[in-house]
Amino acid sequence: MLKKDKGICIRTTDYSESSQILTFFTAQNGKLSVIAKGAKKPKSSFSGPIELCTAGDMVFSLRDGEKLGTLTEFNPTFFGFTLRKKLFALNCGFFACELLNLFTKELDPHPTMFNEAVLFLQRLEESPDNKILPFLILFQFALLSEAGSKPLCDCCVNCKKKFANNWREFFFSSSGNGLVCRDCESAFIDKKKISGECAKCLNQSAKISNCDNKVLVEMQNLLIEYITHILERPMRTAPMILKLMNVLK
Ligand SMILES: [Zn+2]
Repeated sequence: MLKKDKGICIRTTDYSESSQILTFFTAQNGKLSVIAKGAKKPKSSFSGPIELCTAGDMVFSLRDGEKLGTLTEFNPTFFGFTLRKKLFALNCGFFACELLNLFTKELDPHPTMFNEAVLFLQRLEESPDNKILPFLILFQFALLSEAGSKPLCDCCVNCKKKFANNWREFFFSSSGNGLVCRDCESAFIDKKKISGECAKCLNQSAKISNCDNKVLVEMQNLLIEYITHILERPMRTAPMILKLMNVLK
């Protein structure tokens, strides 16, 4: 039976001379892998290979118990033509695709996260490279939250002392999953001293849109470290994000 859904292409693999195996993050079916037969032929029904970060309406078949479906139609509604011309935006798009792939399970729907991902792609398309970092950080918070892995930032993870702007020093521990106060930091080998501004933004994500680039870079470094800890493996797209965000002004 044919099914319809909306999806974002988050992984592509060449399969034979002319076909692709694609993973989509879809609105109603969650993560879904399909074969797009003949997609690489110039005159295929998909009008050329499907690229990462492309979103659109899809028609596919998937038998019960099977892991790989067959894509029969794909009508792109978002190509990301502008984001593909911007180095940082494009790499943030790839980074988001990798995160979505790593944090979601096959056929486990997360419609809210799907909307967040579409919104993020639109922001990448519309914003200049030097305005993207807050959106990237908010996207990661949304994803971590949806996956139940958001760090605890409203109190010290150890003694539960409520977060306050007047703490004299602020620490973050990936293994402890959140903020750590000065009295407890010695118990966490991997703790990192962070700036007060960074701690405030972790505590209240609404502040992220207004903070300066230095703090955003600090937060993004911390998030990559934290996500790597959760996944227990490095992300393939992370080194490029770290490299590019340091040269943005
Ligand atoms: Zn404490």
